[in-house]
Amino acid sequence: MTPMLLVHTIEQLRETLDDASQITLVPTMGALHDGHLSLMELAKDLTPQGKVVASIFVNPLQFSPDEDLEKYPRSLDEDVAKLESQGLVDVLFAPSASEMYPKGFRTTIIPGEISTILEGETRPTHFAGVATVVTKLFEITGCDTAVFGEKDYQQIAVLRQVIEDLNLSVHIVSAPIVREETGLALSSRNRYLLDTEKHEAVRISQALFSAADQGSQGADTVLSTARSALSDMDIDYIELRSVDLSPNPLHGEARLLAAVRVGSTRLIDNVPVDLA
Ligand code: AMP
Repeated sequence: MTPMLLVHTIEQLRETLDDASQITLVPTMGALHDGHLSLMELAKDLTPQGKVVASIFVNPLQFSPDEDLEKYPRSLDEDVAKLESQGLVDVLFAPSASEMYPKGFRTTIIPGEISTILEGETRPTHFAGVATVVTKLFEITGCDTAVFGEKDYQQIAVLRQVIEDLNLSVHIVSAPIVREETGLALSSRNRYLLDTEKHEAVRISQALFSAADQGSQGADTVLSTARSALSDMDIDYIELRSVDLSPNPLHGEARLLAAVRVGSTRLIDNVPVDLA
């Protein structure tokens, strides 16, 4: 097993990847947990010959001024140790904010309508930040494939749109959500939760799964089951969408998505639903 290389600059990264026959990218913001590690495993399986590149970058562009950029967990040393012991990543790219956005940086990619629904209603500039940083990472690494988790289901839809619109030659592979035994979706933000809040947080996935079980009863029943199970919580949205996030699915495969605030922490989750 060759040791993982840690690089901080775009120039070093480009040099390192110069002769790679195939490159698979796994972008993250760090504070790595088993959900992230499942993406690295998938990336390794997809890259028998070439190199797996992971990135750790807490992207300021995707946080609005009232969000948790400053307090977002940063644990690079621990993350490096985890990745080294796992042995699946060839190169870890951990740039500074000034490396990614040097003085004079001006260009932002603004995705269309897909970035204004669901998460975009509360976080109107979030997906422009995501689209910009991920497009830069695609270009800097020259990756053929990039792996993203369904935890951020809308993010995948947005990035697929960006790839299509800008004719980028990157193939996105999505990975299922990794959960605790309780059903709670793993998230770097779970670290913010107090013990009592964690109990509350577990109710989100439980409500989504029990609502999804009602798929044979139709869309209205699924939605009302989820909404009434969480009616005493601070719900940002609970919506049932088609798998491509278009509204009002009636039949077949759909997706139930939610954002709920627990204390000061905003949590997102989603589950597949099979409508009759
Ligand atoms: P983040 O570090 O939160 O930006 O996430 C980096 C990548 O990990 C994204 O593609 C996320 O969707 C994915 N991810 C985060 N949590 C999970 C999870 N519990 N299961 C699977 N993938 C996840």
